[in-house]
Amino acid sequence: MVKLGLYLKVNLENVTDLKPVHEYEWHFKIQCGSCRETDENWISFNPHDTVDMPGSRGSANLVMRCKFCKRESSAQFECGIQAYSAEKNNAFQKIASFDCRGLELVDFSPRDPWVAEGTESGTKFEDIDLSEGEWAEYDEKSGEPVGIAEIEVQFKKEK
Ligand SMILES: [Zn+2]
Repeated sequence: MVKLGLYLKVNLENVTDLKPVHEYEWHFKIQCGSCRETDENWISFNPHDTVDMPGSRGSANLVMRCKFCKRESSAQFECGIQAYSAEKNNAFQKIASFDCRGLELVDFSPRDPWVAEGTESGTKFEDIDLSEGEWAEYDEKSGEPVGIAEIEVQFKKEK
């Protein structure tokens, strides 16, 4: 089993506490731990739905079969999604952790919807779409532009 942390590096402008909504569907590129092939398709799962593993070996948020070597693998969210804070703007921050069996997550597509709030104003921004890798708005309460850009993704193995 491999424990992986998903880290994001983001340039936040006048917003903080960026996180996906509760019903968010997480999209990943996944590499097989057996044959090391990476599926070119984005594969999605979320922390709320679980599927049973064949042979009653428990359940996981994602259970899949490698389309190259047919080996079965699974991934499970660790509890606790962490918001990306402006306090460490432009630095990698962990937002989620996963228990991976027989696979590795190798890329993440942010997509939508995300939420954030104005750093000083507290204005709530909802339905933030990061499909294009950036987002810009205007905070009427503070009279300042707000934005999200330069998103980078990294996975780190955790002990
Ligand atoms: Zn494989």
